[in-house]
Amino acid sequence: MAVGLKIPKSIGGTAMSMTGKCLCGAVSFTAESVKRETHACHCGMCRRWAGSPLFGVSVGKVEFDGDDNIAVYVSSDWAERGFCKNCGTNLFYRLRQTGDHILLAGSFDDQAELPLVGEIYIDQKPPGYEFAGDHPRQTEKEFLASIGMA
Ligand SMILES: [Zn+2]
Ligand SMILES: [Zn+2]
Repeated sequence: MAVGLKIPKSIGGTAMSMTGKCLCGAVSFTAESVKRETHACHCGMCRRWAGSPLFGVSVGKVEFDGDDNIAVYVSSDWAERGFCKNCGTNLFYRLRQTGDHILLAGSFDDQAELPLVGEIYIDQKPPGYEFAGDHPRQTEKEFLASIGMA
């Protein structure tokens, strides 16, 4: 492929299709209507699960190859979290009621397409790290209000 040739993949801020996989390759996915942005969640559950803030990417639809290798942990009344049984890679956060998926940015093959645009639960972030950038940072209260849950 010619260097510098950039084939447009998006209409607006949404990529039609993006692929990714777990560390061992037993699970791979094709996601559609991918919102080309990464959101970090600093909440205590995400940090414990991911070992760091959760870098999440919203997708309209996702199809997994290797479903048999996915284990699902119900983490709350409203959400569950999936990971590869073989290598432990965290794969998704899924809303139980709607089936909406948030995929983990690091599992995408092309993470360069997914810039960090926002942080939530900033009031739960431990003091030992912080991200650069002039994007919105919402507290738990602000975030819950923004999605109509407070
Ligand atoms: Zn795996
Ligand atoms: Zn979280």
